[in-house]
This record gives sequence, C-alpha cells and structure tokens, in this order.
Amino acid sequence: MAATLIDGKALAASMREQLAASVAELKRESVVPGLAVVLVGDDPASRVYVSMKEKACAKVGIFSDEHRLPAETTQEELLALVDKLNADPRIDGILVQLPLPAHIDEDAVLTAIAPEKDVDGFHPVSVGRLVTGNPTFKSCTPYGVMKMLESIQYDLNGKEVVVIGRSNIVGKPVALMCLAENATVTICHSRTCDLAAHVRRADVVIAAVGRTEMIRGEWIKDGAVVIDVGINRQEDGRLLGDVEFEAAAARASYITPVPGGVGPMTITMLLENTVQSARQRVR
Ligand code: NDP
Repeated sequence: MAATLIDGKALAASMREQLAASVAELKRESVVPGLAVVLVGDDPASRVYVSMKEKACAKVGIFSDEHRLPAETTQEELLALVDKLNADPRIDGILVQLPLPAHIDEDAVLTAIAPEKDVDGFHPVSVGRLVTGNPTFKSCTPYGVMKMLESIQYDLNGKEVVVIGRSNIVGKPVALMCLAENATVTICHSRTCDLAAHVRRADVVIAAVGRTEMIRGEWIKDGAVVIDVGINRQEDGRLLGDVEFEAAAARASYITPVPGGVGPMTITMLLENTVQSARQRVR
C-alpha cells in the first residue's frame, strides 16, 4: 500500500480531548453546553447512534438531555417538544434522530428547530447559509470530511473534487464545502454517464453512495486523496466502504479506512457544533 491512512479514530480522539478542555473552560464561565437528543420509535440502528451520541457527550462534559418517545408520538407532540427545547436556556443544540416514523413530516420537524440550535445543520436556514457562503452550523459528516482534509493540510484551491452521491446529508453539503474552498467540484449520482471517467481525473474522490467497493481502485488517479464515507455491513458482519480499498490505496496518496475513517468524525463534529453554539450563547 502506497497511500498514507487518514486515521479518523485518532483524529476524533484528539479533537474530543480539545473539546473536553473547551467545555471545562466554558464551565469556569458557568456555561454548560447542552445537547438535546430526540429519538422517536425503536429503530435499532437509531437507538445505537443515539446512545453513542449520549456517551460521547458525557465523555467531553456536555449535558445531554435525552428524549426517547414512543413510535406512536404524533407530529404535534414532537413539534411541541421541539418548541420547548428551543426555549430551554440549558440547551445549545437539538438533534432529532432520523429517520422519523412515516406519519411524521421530517421537513416540518427539522424546520421547527431554531436555526441557532441546529447543530445537525439540516435546517433550511443552515443549508441556505452554506449555499450562500455564510457562516453556519455545518452538517456533521461533511464537516468531518473537511476536518480530515485539513488534518493532512490539503489545499483544495483549484483542485478537481469528484463527489459520488448527492444526498442532502452528505453528497450535496460536502460538495458545497469543497466549492467554498475553491475546488472545482463535480457531483456524480446514479444517472451519471461514465462514472469511471469522472473519478479518473479527480485529485480528491469523496465516495458517499452506500454500495460496497463500487469505486474501483484502478479508477483512482496516481496521488489522489480518497475519502470513503460509505459504510456497508457485510453478511459476515464486517464493514466495508464504497471504495475498493487495497487497489485504491496502491495508487492514492492518502486514503480513509472503513471502519475507523469518516465514521468516528461524525459524532465529534456534532460535539464541536454544540460547543460552538454554547460559545455563541456567552459571547
Ligand atoms: P443515500 O442513499 O441518501 O444517497 C446515495 C447516493 O448515491 C445517491 O445520490 C445516489 O444517486 C448515489 N448512487 C447510488 N447508486 C449509484 C451508482 N451506481 N453510481 C453513482 N451514484 C450512485 O446515502 P447517504 O448519502 O445517506 O449515505 C451514503 C453512504 O454513506 C452510506 O453507505 C451511508 O451508510 C454512509 N454514511 C456514513 C456516515 C458516517 O458517519 N460515516 C454518515 C452518513 C452516511 P441518486 O441520487 O441518483 O439516487
């Protein structure tokens, strides 16, 4: 393997140490950052994510206010809780775990969160601010990707970035974040003709598809940086990314592993956004 690994686990651990120090400093000013986490229903994956978020908060000293609601919760009840959290001075960030049960309109709920507490970065105001190049809470997975590029001091200015995937939570926001750093960005998706040709000219490949190893190693340009957001669980329980790892690593300069790459960064960026929100409360 020629490429250097970008170790998301190590980067996340060092960022969390710094966050714990920032939280301790805020506490000396009598400010305790608070994150409200709302889970509706009992989707097993969501339950795991929510408890990971709660544990991560506890470790850095963030107050975590948990709300586990039954699957039958009505939209009105959920909106009433969001309103209450919007007004609660102990809460700096509100996270409603997605997906919500089918009878609840996700957009209505995300839009009800006060933009100044939108630490997930999904509110239309946050998205609009990202599009127009204004400071905002950046959604956590793409923000984590940007931190990983920053950790290798990668200068995106003028570089060709190819993003594969156009979801609202990963593909589109990461493309906008790279554009803000003056990269030339191409977004590929399921209707893209000749995906290989796009990937072949990329200085940076960001894969966010959700299909095991669909990005072939032979498509990677020599020296490219490869960021693999994909998490694909195999029948034997292993996790694999969207990129054919070994073959891509033979050509790339840097590559993120799966697991231990982008995954650990996502929750770290949620903590980062919550601490940033608490700082804004005091300043
Ligand atoms: P979505 O399913 O919402 O989006 C997948 C995207 O991939 C779509 O835009 C789709 O195109 C595109 N796509 C599907 N098939 C192809 C194809 N054959 N060629 C090119 N593009 C294709 O997924 P998410 O964005 O939510 O997640 C992507 C991956 O990232 C998943 O593996 C997920 O588990 C992982 N993930 C990891 C996180 C982390 O913390 N590390 C956080 C969030 C996600 P189209 O729009 O045309 O359908």
